[in-house]
Amino acid sequence: MGRYDGRVAVITGGGRGIGFGIAARLAEEGASVALVDLDEAAVTEAAGRVPVRDGAKAVGIAADISAAEAVERAVGRVVEELGGVHVLVNNAGITRDNLLHKMSEDDWDLVMGVHLKGAFLMAREAQRHFVKQRYGKILTLSSTAALSSRGQVNYSTAKMGVQGFTRTLGVELGPFGVNVNAIAPGFITTEMTDGAARRLGRDVEEFRRARAEVTPVRRVGSPADVAAAAAFLCSDEASYITGQTLYVDGGARL
Ligand code: NAP
Repeated sequence: MGRYDGRVAVITGGGRGIGFGIAARLAEEGASVALVDLDEAAVTEAAGRVPVRDGAKAVGIAADISAAEAVERAVGRVVEELGGVHVLVNNAGITRDNLLHKMSEDDWDLVMGVHLKGAFLMAREAQRHFVKQRYGKILTLSSTAALSSRGQVNYSTAKMGVQGFTRTLGVELGPFGVNVNAIAPGFITTEMTDGAARRLGRDVEEFRRARAEVTPVRRVGSPADVAAAAAFLCSDEASYITGQTLYVDGGARL
């Protein structure tokens, strides 16, 4: 018996990185999963690599979660192809880093559009099913960057916004059997952090080592570290936990 037997989870940005790690973990515990991501070929290929258990399925769906119609179609497909929806993981994210005086309106709008509007649209669509069935889990990715991050005022603002989103939806949806939580990771090895190293002209391995040295547990995180916390927070063992943000950061508030 897996904790997620008979459950359907939709994970945005599930094609790679943390999102794929969460999808794989929930599938290992019995869930059927839908990966929603921008690139159709990549997300279809990723869905094929999810370690689904007997009787469960994994599908890849191409959609831009910052567009309402695309979100409506994507959630509709999840319900049709997987027979329902029980868990929403708002994980898709982008960075457009710059110091304030060099940050464009596009850099601001794009980051807000994916992290905040995307999470809002997905949650609004999913809650129609969650409230009707009196059951649902919403997990959104915040970040230690919420607490400040030089050169990331757009991203930091969005990630602190996620924490307010989470607390408020916890209040609104609690009476309907829906738990709403967030995870704020520290440095996790993915394309997002490797890309940041390259943009700064740093060697990827050296960049990771430098971050490990200033992290209390003396290592950087992996998608599996975040997935383990996600699998707990979206399970029924966590049904008395809502509105919370759990920092998964090796003790580093950087
Ligand atoms: P990642 O490797 O860059 O993966 C993010 C995925 O989201 C990509 O496949 C990306 O697609 C997709 N995506 C972007 N915009 C989208 C949209 N509008 N609609 C659908 N999918 C979209 O990032 P990650 O490191 O796994 O991060 C996952 C989440 O954790 C993000 O919310 C991030 O902010 C958060 N986080 C990460 C870290 C870290 O250290 N890695 C730390 C704290 C928080 P494309 O590649 O096609 O753009």
